[in-house]
Amino acid sequence: LERTFCIIKPDAVEKKKAGAILAFLEEAGFSILAAKRTHLTRAVAEGFYAVHSARPFFGELVEFMTRSPVFVVALEREDAVAHYRKVMGATDPAKAEANTIRKLYGGSVGENAVHGSDSLDNAKIEIAYFFPGNEVA
Ligand code: ATP
Ligand code: MG
Repeated sequence: LERTFCIIKPDAVEKKKAGAILAFLEEAGFSILAAKRTHLTRAVAEGFYAVHSARPFFGELVEFMTRSPVFVVALEREDAVAHYRKVMGATDPAKAEANTIRKLYGGSVGENAVHGSDSLDNAKIEIAYFFPGNEVA
């Protein structure tokens, strides 16, 4: 089994879709190993998205991610990283396949409901960033 990391972003939490997204993930075969609600500080959001710091939308992304609380979630499944990217759908909800999380719950390329790790190495880093120590058993 493999682990990956999910953030249910402020837009989806504001729309009260956090529970629906967690249910969707369980239906898709993921086990929820850990989940918590947290309001990201600017420093935490900038640290998390440091790889995007040179991109033109970085300021907007940090503003959005710190706007209101998120849920950070550690997931487990066979082939978790690739499978979660598939069920999450394309970055732009308008381009996402039917019955993906971003098609169902995303609003725009910026406010797209969820984050997902893009590699197993990053999944480990991201889970450790939000669940230090023994929080994920
Ligand atoms: P994530 O990393 O959130 O899972 P992703 O891997 O599909 O999404 P990235 O290219 O890593 O997409 O971009 C990170 C996030 O930055 C996107 O999820 C989105 O919220 C925001 N973003 C990406 N492209 C744009 C854009 N053109 N305009 C505004 N925001 C964007
Ligand atoms: Mg990404």
